[in-house]
Order: sequence, then structure tokens, then C-alpha cells
Amino acid sequence: MTFAQSHSVRRWGAMLFALACVIAACVARPAGAMPLRDDAVFCHAETSLSVADGELTSLAFSCGDEPVGYQRASLWLRASIDRLPGVQAQAIAVRYTRFERLAVAFVYADGAVRWQRVRRGDYGAHWRVGGQLLFEAPDRSAPLVAVAMRFDRLTDHSLLHPRLISADEAGLQAAGMAAMIGASLTLLLVSGIYSLSLAVAARCQYLVWQAAWSGVMIVWGALWSQIHLAILPAAAGTPSARAATLLACLAIAVATASAVTAIGRDHISRGLQSATLVLGFGIGLAGIPLALTQSGDLGLWGQILGVAIIVDLLAVALCLGRGWRRGSVEARDFALAWGLPMAMLALVHVVDVEDGFWGAGSKLPVLVAATWQALWLSAAATRRLSHLRVERDHARAAEAHAQALARRDPLTGLANRRGFVERVTPLLAEARAGDLPAALLLVDIDRFKSVNDGHGHEVGDEVLCRIARRIDRWEGPMCTVARLGGEEFGLLTVGMEGIMLDRFAESIRREIAACDHRDIIGDRRVTASVGVAEAKPAVDFQQLYRFADAALYEAKRAGRDRVDVQRYGRGGNGPPDRDVALLN
Ligand code: GH3
Ligand code: MG
Ligand code: MG
Repeated sequence: MTFAQSHSVRRWGAMLFALACVIAACVARPAGAMPLRDDAVFCHAETSLSVADGELTSLAFSCGDEPVGYQRASLWLRASIDRLPGVQAQAIAVRYTRFERLAVAFVYADGAVRWQRVRRGDYGAHWRVGGQLLFEAPDRSAPLVAVAMRFDRLTDHSLLHPRLISADEAGLQAAGMAAMIGASLTLLLVSGIYSLSLAVAARCQYLVWQAAWSGVMIVWGALWSQIHLAILPAAAGTPSARAATLLACLAIAVATASAVTAIGRDHISRGLQSATLVLGFGIGLAGIPLALTQSGDLGLWGQILGVAIIVDLLAVALCLGRGWRRGSVEARDFALAWGLPMAMLALVHVVDVEDGFWGAGSKLPVLVAATWQALWLSAAATRRLSHLRVERDHARAAEAHAQALARRDPLTGLANRRGFVERVTPLLAEARAGDLPAALLLVDIDRFKSVNDGHGHEVGDEVLCRIARRIDRWEGPMCTVARLGGEEFGLLTVGMEGIMLDRFAESIRREIAACDHRDIIGDRRVTASVGVAEAKPAVDFQQLYRFADAALYEAKRAGRDRVDVQRYGRGGNGPPDRDVALLN
């Protein structure tokens, strides 16, 4: 690891630690909300289901020990307000909903008892976003002296976490929690859709897992916070709680798969990768029996699962750390994105935060941390893809430059033979389709070898460059020019024929001969011979070149510094008609 990397790891480690501290501080109970732990202020009684609610006053409650054997019966919990000095108790909030029926009693100083009841699938006006049931004490002149709750067929009393709070505070907390949950779910949805579209655009497997994870977290968050009850009130209670348990385990499995598959086989050992995946999917599968558990000790299973989750998180952290150290950019992004959710998950499994976060317990920080992770990873993926795009653009530009160079003659800057053929082939095809004439003019310097021999190769190069510059001036919409090799140049014209072409070829010969090279080769004249092949309709380049080469040969044979034109036209099925004109 480089110094910069280790510095960055330390910086992020410090940031995560600071965040964890902030969260731990938030876990502290909000002022005025007094949690009622059954081992602290609640006394309990167990009866059969057939006992009437009205028997509350005649029940014998025992305090300080654990309730047992209530899963198929009724569990009664009773707290005296006078044992909680300073608490403005007007409402009781319950978060756990794995029961068949709940009856809440408010007992007043004048002996009056006011009951409020809910059953599984019918929470009425007591349902609150954030997975809570809220029971507000009716306003009476007599002071409240005790609250009692009767749960029929409760699964696990240790997960109840009932809280006694003031009515005002209950409203504020519910609104704050609803806003927090709504924002988290919306952001998760947006980043999930975004990850999926990125996954499709960039064909990236881990982004599919990431999108799946966002999806699972959205459903989990909706179920846990009971938002879905607005549409599906009948899903209240155990079905939702079971589905939420299953989804929480599934989320761990999908998140593990997402992080581990992002790193890639080159950066971590296959054994570690497989072991972490097995652990992650094991937790996902464990969600099935856990969700199906009707009764029994859910708390114990929850603790076992908690240990498994910690081990899974450590394994994922190990994978990410190794991947990062071995240069995996994805591992670095994941480590940074997962830092907070991992710290949060570890925190809520190590520290008991069930009474914190306005009564939302461990679920709310996990949801918020998950949202952070999803947003961070989306941003990181976007940044990485934009880097890739910039690199791709550079590579394309470099390739285009190399392609252009491959088609240019480095000495004169004119197109070389390859570039010329590529440019004229479509022009000839168009001319053929439009029944237009095309002509190739081959210009070859006369006795150029003697220039080299007499004045040196560099002077020969300079002469070639000057002639190339002159020839380049004929480049235009009707004429394409190139250096075809050595001291031979080519000009292709489309639409020019007959006397016009003859004149054009003659002007080329004349102007090359008129070039002034006295400053480098003295009085030695440099002339050129021009072989012209005119074809109507146009023929392909190879054929045209053969004809022009033959014309050039004729011009050389006739004494050089002259133009030879050969014309080819339609001549039935046989070879084209040939009409030779020797100019000059
Ligand atoms: P002809 O009139 O028959 O065309 O005679 P020539 O000497 O021009 O033809 P030949 O094919 O015998 O020689 C061509 C010469 O062109 C030989 C070679 O050294 C020279 N030549 C080819 N390419 C270059 C180049 O890039 N730079 C220089 N300085 N000379 C070149
Ligand atoms: Mg020559
Ligand atoms: Mg030659």
C-alpha cells in the first residue's frame, strides 16, 4: 500500500469512527421518553386466553423475574406511573407486533380503567409509520396511575420495547420518523433504478446485485416501517414481521454477493471469495426458518444470527481490504461505501440501541446507513464510468490520429497510396453509378535518380516536397491528389474528360517543369512525364491504375517531359475502346 493509500485508509477510518461515535451519541434516549423494560418497571402475569380483560385488577403480578410460558397464552404487563418520577406519561408506544391480540389499559387514580384494543391485521388508528403502535391515554381529570398491556399469543417478550411518552412527543417523533423513512426509501429507490440502468449500460454484474440490494432494502424498509399497511392493512402483524425478517437476511446475502463479486478474481483468493459467499447466502437461507418461527425463543436465534452477521461483515471487510490493497478500484469504492453501513450493523449488534432513535430502534439507522451506501456507490460507479469514458475518448483520439498518420506520407504530407485508394474508391463507385467519366493522372519525375546522385538525397527530398506542394494546390472537389510512392504522384479527377482533361494534364506537366529549383540544384531542370487514363464510365482503381501506368510508360518511351492520354469507353462486351493521344 502506498503512503497516499494508507493515509486515505486512516482518514476514512477516522471518519467512520467519528460517525459511529455520533451515532452512538444519538442512541442516547431522547429527553422525556422513558423506556419501560420489563426487567425494570414492568411486573408480569400469565393467564390462559379465556380470562377476561376485566380481571386485570384481580391478577397477581410478579416483578423482577422473566415471564415464561406465555406464547400460547396471555402475557400481562403492568407498570405503575408513580414508580417513574418526572415522566409525563400520556401514551404508550409498542414496536413489536408478533402477537394475536393486544389490549392496553390506562388506569386512573379514581379507579377508572380505559381499554384500547388491536388484533393482528387490524391496528385501526393505532398504526404509526416506523413500525409502531401508539396508544394514547384518554384525557381525564383524574391522574393516570398505571398502564397495563395484555398480549395474546406473543412470540417473544424481550423484543417488545414498550415506551411511555407524552402525547406531544409521540406526534413529533412519528412525524420525524415518517420523514426520515420516506426520504430514505425514496433515495434507495432512485439509486436502485440508477444502479440498474448503469448495470445495463456498462454490463456490470455487481451493479445488478447492488440494484437488487436496494430493492430488497426498499421492501424491507417499507415492511419494517409498516408503510405498506396504508395499502394492505390485512398484512399487519406476523406476516409483515416474518417477511421483514426474511428480507433482512436476504439483504445481507445480496449485499455480500454484491461486494464480493465487485472485487474480481484477480484481487482476492477464490477460497476467501467462496467462503464469504457461502456465509452470506447461509444467512439469507437462515432467514427462512427464522421467518417461519411461530413461537419459541426468537431472541436466542436473533443473537445467533447477530454473531453470524458480524462474522459475515468481517469476511466481507477482509475481502474488500485485500482487494483494495491489491489495487481493485471496485474494492476501494465498496469499502468506502460500506464503511458506514458495516459500522452501523456491527454497532447495532454489539450495542443495544433498541430503545434509541425515537423508539425506532436499530432499524432506522440501518435504513439510513443503507441509503448512504446506495447513494455513495452510485456516485462512485458514475465517477469510475466517467473516468473510463474519458480514457476511452483519449484512446479513440489516439487511434484516429494513428489512422490518419497511416494514410499520410510523412515526407510531403500528401495522402499516401493507402489513403488515396481509400478516398478514391467511393468516388469511383459514385462516378460509375452516375455514368460519369473518371481519370487517373500518374506524374513521375524524369530521371530523378540523377538529382539524388548529383546533389544528394536530402536535396532530392526537398525537390520532391516542392513538387508535392505544387501538386497539392490541385486538390479540390473534382481532384484528389497523393504521393503514390518514390517520385510518383497521382491525381484522380471525376467529371473531367476530353479536351478539358488534356489541358489539365498538360498544365500539370508545364507547371512542374516551371518550378524553380535553382537555389538547390542550379540550372538543372526538373521535368515530369504524365500518364493519363480516362474511363467513361469509370472503372475501379486497379484497372484505372494499370491503364495510367501504361500511358506513363508510353510518355517515358516517347522521350519524357510529355503527357500520354489513353481513353477507354464502352465497347460492347469486349475490352474497352482505346484512343491514344500523345501531347507535346
Ligand atoms: P525515370 O525518368 O525513368 O523515371 O527515371 P528515374 O531516375 O526517375 O527513375 P528510377 O525509378 O530509376 O529512380 C527513381 C529514383 O527516385 C530512385 C530513388 O532513389 C529516388 N527516390 C525514390 N523515393 C525517394 C525519396 O523519398 N527521396 C529521394 N531523395 N529520392 C527518392
Ligand atoms: Mg522517375
Ligand atoms: Mg518512378
